[in-house]
Amino acid sequence: MKHMKKILPLLLCAALLLGGCGGESQDDGEGQETSAAVQEDSAAQEKYSGQVFAMDTYMSLDVYSDSQETVDRAISRITEMEALFSTTDEASEIYAVNADGTGTVSGDVEYVLSRALELCALTGGALDISIYPVVRAWGFTTGEYRIPGESELAALLERVDYTAVTLENGVVTLGEDMMIDLGSVVKGYTGDALTEQLAQEGVTSALLNLGGNVQALGAKPDGSLWRVAIQDPNDSDGVLGVVSVEDKAVVTSGGYERYFEGADGEIYWHIIDPGTGAPAKNGLVSVSIIGDSGLYCDALSTALFIMGEERAVAFWRERRDFEMVLVTDDGRLLVSAGLEDSFESLDTYPMEIIDP
Ligand code: ADP
Ligand code: MG
Repeated sequence: MKHMKKILPLLLCAALLLGGCGGESQDDGEGQETSAAVQEDSAAQEKYSGQVFAMDTYMSLDVYSDSQETVDRAISRITEMEALFSTTDEASEIYAVNADGTGTVSGDVEYVLSRALELCALTGGALDISIYPVVRAWGFTTGEYRIPGESELAALLERVDYTAVTLENGVVTLGEDMMIDLGSVVKGYTGDALTEQLAQEGVTSALLNLGGNVQALGAKPDGSLWRVAIQDPNDSDGVLGVVSVEDKAVVTSGGYERYFEGADGEIYWHIIDPGTGAPAKNGLVSVSIIGDSGLYCDALSTALFIMGEERAVAFWRERRDFEMVLVTDDGRLLVSAGLEDSFESLDTYPMEIIDP
């Protein structure tokens, strides 16, 4: 089996800042005219950047601040989160819960777990944090990929049921032989925690790229919107469009992020349909969710990818508290109506607006 795991290169980060690298004008010095939207003291602010490899992906942060320490503290927070939520690090809280079937968790894990359980229910079980034994059987946790047999998958699926996970007063309890994985939401939560931390430190403008999860704090320092590129799922160097945002998360799940080619020539990816135990192939190859909360967008990008076009569109029509960009496996680009003014297609795919 060919190992084809792909890590989104930093190239994409460069592509994310189309139209000028995020307010370079701020670096021009203090004397310039500032637009009305710019805070009084932001002329003293400069762009500070940081990169880190964490949660199995490259992350890059651009923060308008008065010192590099702001970025360094944000990176420390990412490292702390990784240590709490990792499924493979023996010192993590999640590892302990999975090993013992129960455990006491700290504030961050308790919050994310309770939100994730709500979102498993909201998505009708498309998101299921107890899918971990299945993800592991396919080798996505180690990179030693394999195709589990039907009876193996059937046996593993018996251990998948998020409703058998309980959380009370910080104590998690799993049903027999169950294991959990918050990997589908932890980057989104980390984005939320970082923007909150940065805002508390007085930062009003930052763009965080947490490997496919982009989170914008405020607008660019000159008051214009951040322009976030959405990757073309069929071309690792290509962009299918750009969405302009302020104070929003833009989270994409795609089959191209982590996958392998089986001996049968099929492509198998890391988003698993809890209904079958196999990689979700329900007609979508990329799902981008745009909304206020990184955690919510992250959960939905995974869940709607699994739901497929019809259920995803119905879900959006029912809720309307997020916007989305879908790419179908037959090459159509579906964009929810709320993005009509903020999304620019690069015309790689014929575009349809999804009406309410
Ligand atoms: P990425 O982490 O690549 O950005 P996602 O946010 O879509 O992608 O999360 C995928 C991860 O979530 C997988 O690596 C796996 O650990 C886990 N996962 C896979 N299928 C499901 C599912 N149906 N429900 C919950 N988590 C899942
Ligand atoms: Mg996700």
